[in-house]
Amino acid sequence: MKDLDLIGKEFGRLKVIERSPSKNGRSQWLCQCSCGNVIVVPASYLTTDDTQSCGCLKKEQEQINLREKYDSKRVDDVAVQLFKGQEPRSDSTTGYRGVLRYYTRVSKEERFKAWITVAGKKYYKAGFLTAEDAYMIGRKDLEEKYIPKKPSLD
Ligand SMILES: [Zn+2]
Repeated sequence: MKDLDLIGKEFGRLKVIERSPSKNGRSQWLCQCSCGNVIVVPASYLTTDDTQSCGCLKKEQEQINLREKYDSKRVDDVAVQLFKGQEPRSDSTTGYRGVLRYYTRVSKEERFKAWITVAGKKYYKAGFLTAEDAYMIGRKDLEEKYIPKKPSLD
């Protein structure tokens, strides 16, 4: 069987430079890849388009795949974080930490009270019309009154 002369022929990124000693009766060719690598490729691999580069093509494709995978994972992470931000705080049904809803005993009107725990003791400040007031005024008040002042780190 006569070998094809492949010298000078291009297969993908590979350009055949010269004949290489055959292996197991199969002819092989020394090829220069466009990336600069030189490899020996069996002729059958070249003529069936199985081999189109020294391997750099596959590596590049893998890297692209990895990057795409990473990007789509990042989108998932952001989505998860956004979802997390919308979860109600587990310690509160009012949307504010340390604020409880209650109803006045006689007229059954909705009110809010702030509370804090300092050294195992609970302190309340009640009578707010909105949870926001309870938090912004009541809780701040309680914090100022009952939480021991730390030295300022500013
Ligand atoms: Zn290459």
